[in-house]
Parts: sequence; structure tokens; C-alpha cells
Amino acid sequence: MTRPPNSAEGPRVRFWGVRGSTPTPVPANMRFGGNTACVEVDTGGPDLIVFDAGTGLRLLGDRLLAESEGRGYRPVHILLSHLHWDHIQGFPFFRPVYTEGYPITVSGSSSATRLLKPAFEGQLSDPYFPVLFRDLPARVELRDLPEHPFDLPCGRLSTAGLHHPQGATAFRLDCGAKSVVYACDHEHGNGSADAALVELARNADLLISDAQYTPQEYEYLYRGWGHSTWVEVAKLAQRANVKQLVMTHHDPWHDDAALDEIESLAQRQFAGTRLAREGMEILL
Ligand SMILES: [Zn+2]
Ligand SMILES: [Zn+2]
Repeated sequence: MTRPPNSAEGPRVRFWGVRGSTPTPVPANMRFGGNTACVEVDTGGPDLIVFDAGTGLRLLGDRLLAESEGRGYRPVHILLSHLHWDHIQGFPFFRPVYTEGYPITVSGSSSATRLLKPAFEGQLSDPYFPVLFRDLPARVELRDLPEHPFDLPCGRLSTAGLHHPQGATAFRLDCGAKSVVYACDHEHGNGSADAALVELARNADLLISDAQYTPQEYEYLYRGWGHSTWVEVAKLAQRANVKQLVMTHHDPWHDDAALDEIESLAQRQFAGTRLAREGMEILL
């Protein structure tokens, strides 16, 4: 689906990958989807914004190339929350990178130990992948994100640091009167990181958040693994007074039935909560 440039509508958000940690292409997961983190935000402006480059990015690439025929390439701005595999593995299979001159910007934060550029380029290197980053025919630019808000052609971008092993960054895109916040991956319970995320998400039209675990799983198995529970995310959405909440980064061991149950429980705590499904679109 494509939109005319400078559309009067608000941003359109589409989920291309909703799974956390690893792809899960099994029948029991297909209703929600098995591709890892990737969310497109089309503001109708010149650039397309993409949060994370998990395996869902592959199919977005096919659509972009189909749309570009006879119309030229639409610049893509990929914003990486962090460099864990489930957030970058779609990039080597994103066909625009093999298209001469296709303009692609990848922005992210360097971790405490690794700079963005060598770390990101490393996935396209010997012996991990047969094509080297430097040989990609697209015009790929890697950019370190500044800590202060800055303007993209399609809106103003603000960030906040998240509580996650090796770090992660949350994004808020303000486009006209509409705002969308993307927060993957984050473990609740760190006072300053929780407060920064609440502030970032304050009064947002849409909060998309990691809510990988149930409270029981978190308590007995996954404390310290870097992800939130749906209960804590619903509380955070209430504190931040967001209008809509979409939970994503589904656990690989949560099949469709388990996610249905989480969704109905979450809706009792924060009205209108939805669990992300591959292909789901929200018009803000
Ligand atoms: Zn992740
Ligand atoms: Zn992670």
C-alpha cells in the first residue's frame, strides 16, 4: 500500500515484524507472526521511517522496490534501537541495499563497548555473510544518533536510553500533531530509565513497547534478561497518558493462544491495548 506524498492524513504505522529474540516460523505462531522487530512509519513525507531492521524488513524491501518502478527511490531512514540480532538481521536481505544508488540511512547509538559503524558493518563481513558491507551498491549511510532531539524531513525525533543489556534506545517521532513512540527492548524496574521512558511517551498518540513476558515468567525465569512484562507496560502507558498502546517483541515461546490470552488480560488493565500482529496497520 502506498500513500501520496504530503498526505493530509496522520502517520500510518505498519508492523512487519513483531517477534522478539528469534524468528518463529511455525504454524502455531502464524496469526501473530514470526518475523523479528520491524515497524514502518509512513508520514506521507519524502522519507520513510523504519524502526528496527529485524527479519520483517525483508518484505518491506520488496514493496519499496515495487513502488519505486517508474517513480524513483524513496529514501529510507532506519532507526536501530540496538544491535542485537533480532533488530538487525533483516538488513542483509533488504533488497534495496543491492540496488545501485538507493538512499538508505541507518541511525543508532554506539553501545558502551562498540561503536555503531564497525558493529553494524560486522554482520556483512567474512565469515558471517558472503557480501561485504563496503560492496553494497546502495547509498548506505551510518549515523550515530545525537542525544538531543533533531529534525528529520518527516518530523522531529527524540530519544531516551532504555534499560537493556548493552543498552537500547527508545524513539519518539512527532509529526504535525501526531506522535508515535517505539520502545524496544526495555526491562522495567530501573527508576531513571522508567522515568525517562514515561517522559518520552507523555501524551503520545501511540506507544509501541516491548512486553515480552508474563509476570510469572519474569518472576521465576527472566528477571535481568532485559524485557518487560505486559503488566508493567500497561502501568507505564497509564503513567504516560498515551492514547493507544501496542505490545510487541512477543516471546518466541508464546504461541497464538498464549498471546490471545495476554491481550485480553492487558485490555482489562489498559483499555484498547492491542498485541502487534504482522501486517497490522494503524492510521494515527
Ligand atoms: Zn530484541
Ligand atoms: Zn535486545
